[in-house]
Amino acid sequence: MSQYQRCKTISKDLREKCYTCFRPKSSCMCPFIKPIKTKTKFVVLMHTHEFKKIKNGTGHFTHLCLENSELYIDVSFANHNAVNALLNDKNNNCYVLYPSEESLVLNDNPLPKDKNQNVIFLIDATWHNAKKLLRDSPNIQALPKVSFEHTRNSEFKIKEQPMDLCLSTMESTLCVLELLTESRSEDLSTSELNGFLEPFRKMVEYQVKCTTLENKSPRFRV
Ligand SMILES: [Zn+2]
Repeated sequence: MSQYQRCKTISKDLREKCYTCFRPKSSCMCPFIKPIKTKTKFVVLMHTHEFKKIKNGTGHFTHLCLENSELYIDVSFANHNAVNALLNDKNNNCYVLYPSEESLVLNDNPLPKDKNQNVIFLIDATWHNAKKLLRDSPNIQALPKVSFEHTRNSEFKIKEQPMDLCLSTMESTLCVLELLTESRSEDLSTSELNGFLEPFRKMVEYQVKCTTLENKSPRFRV
């Protein structure tokens, strides 16, 4: 099937979804997913609205690309059993990735390398929903916040980012992985780090192709 035909069938495919990567089957990105092993546990907290979006969700990719990760979907995690079990586990050092004035900047502050497991919660939502999710999840709000300084421009060409330097969940996770590797909390190889964004890149490539075709054909709608 040509790229054009594949794109054209997307609307039909909306009901035909890949339940691994949660993409329409016509643009399933599973073949590009190569999970990597990390010592740090990552927990993707996906806002329900993000889950309902058909395009652009990178929370699922992030989860699928990290062996040591979990993904939960809700609008609030205040009473979420699995999340609270992680928070209450004395063997975990828990953090939430969230930029704020009091955030520990990972570029200058390596995470502890004690016997505990570092656990980083990632909020997969728009800025607006991320704020609401945090407000409605006091257990997550109470965690020490971590952030990073970066100069990487988002490769996410489709999603409208409020600022040029806003990154998708997957790109932000890669920045964290790079810093954790630099500070020796992780021992990831260059090829593992370089390959991490592959499903994301392929998805963007696919969407750019579809948009180009859409512009060429007035009858074409994704
Ligand atoms: Zn898939």
